[in-house]
Amino acid sequence: MKKYDYILAGGGCAGLSLVYHLLESSLKDSQILIIDPSQGEIPNKTWCYWSKESLPIHPKAARFSWNSFYLKDAKQQLTQPLNELSYHHLNSHDFYAHVLEKIGQFPNVHFLKEEVLELIPTGTKIQVATKAATFSASFVFDSRIKLSETNESILNQVFIGIRIKVSEPIFDPKKWGLMDFETRPSKGFDFIYTLPFSTDEALIEYTTYTKEERSEGELLEELQQFLLQKYGSIAYDIKFQESGKIPMSTRQFSTSVSPRHIPIGTAAGWTKPSTGYTFAPIQENCSALVDCLERGILNGLNFPRKKRFIFYDNILLSIAHHWPKRLPDVFINLFSTSPPDLVFRFLAEKTSFWEELKLLSRLKFGIFLKGLSRYGTY
Ligand SMILES: Cc1cc2nc3c(=O)[nH]c(=O)nc-3n(C[C@H](O)[C@H](O)[C@H](O)COP(=O)(O)OP(=O)(O)OC[C@H]3O[C@@H](n4cnc5c(N)ncnc54)[C@H](O)[C@@H]3O)c2cc1C
Repeated sequence: MKKYDYILAGGGCAGLSLVYHLLESSLKDSQILIIDPSQGEIPNKTWCYWSKESLPIHPKAARFSWNSFYLKDAKQQLTQPLNELSYHHLNSHDFYAHVLEKIGQFPNVHFLKEEVLELIPTGTKIQVATKAATFSASFVFDSRIKLSETNESILNQVFIGIRIKVSEPIFDPKKWGLMDFETRPSKGFDFIYTLPFSTDEALIEYTTYTKEERSEGELLEELQQFLLQKYGSIAYDIKFQESGKIPMSTRQFSTSVSPRHIPIGTAAGWTKPSTGYTFAPIQENCSALVDCLERGILNGLNFPRKKRFIFYDNILLSIAHHWPKRLPDVFINLFSTSPPDLVFRFLAEKTSFWEELKLLSRLKFGIFLKGLSRYGTY
């Protein structure tokens, strides 16, 4: 049986990020195996995150960022500048190319295009079974997503986006559209997200929080209706298309079968349940994980979220489940009453309790009391 120091069950964003962080550390000579049935296929994804500087894993040549954004509804457009933070954009193809190029320099990192079927704890090791073979490792980092049977009751953030090129200058590349609610009458909570790269090119996304299955065709139709309503019948070329379904829940999706089995990524609950953002937490937790491994801290290699942020997320999810049409007001209220850098730090769970009290005390709290009245783990 082949032995490795680390096996990655899943080589997507979290798996590859963890390997990247390992290769940047004193553990770079470890024997590493990445097992993923989709190895070689790169999913179309646009990763955005906010931070002062772009993250070290973000290739220099692929950096694009904004310092100002807007939220919009039928009554108003709230345009806000960021102060210290920027909103960074990274395309999944640039990310994979960058990380795979680095991995290519390390003959100790191996790939296997297979599905991980089972993890078997054996004393101080853990075995990983695929259809063809079984391997042994000191640690398995697992980013396979297993939504539990209860997943019918959770909300998903479902979206479709197209990067379009138009023949006229209609976009303002200085500010990104975080949430545009000025769409047709909505059945629940949905909005348009716009990333303008130049005056004639932008990624435009239709996003909804829903428990229902929504086909790509339906989502695309919503997006096309928005484009028609906002820009008239403009002609455009589609340069890139992405779609996704991100679970929005404070529930635990995966359980560890041994202290040597470490869930990572979305599977480990690293997705912010109320917003779906995961890329920055992946980088932060992978860096912390490698730091623990380097220092020989081999217990508690999970990074549970602070309880008070789970509480805030459950209230927001309670509103999203029961009063989704109130959410546009909640987000506009949030961004219009506190400095945007503070709001983004709050959404990234980087605020102190006192900052949160200040921020929350400025909000219209009626809807939050309603949310509290149906409080639960969503
Ligand atoms: C289109 C899209 C856009 C997004 N944009 C943003 C954004 O702007 N900002 C942000 O913060 N987050 C964003 N997210 C959320 C999140 O960052 C991504 O989903 C991210 O890819 C999550 O990383 P992950 O490693 O957990 O999952 P993935 O990247 O999906 O990786 C999981 C891997 O596990 C593999 N796998 C599955 N089953 C098995 C098995 N049995 N054995 C072995 N391997 C297996 C899969 O093939 C896959 O490669 C986006 C998500 C999507 C879908």
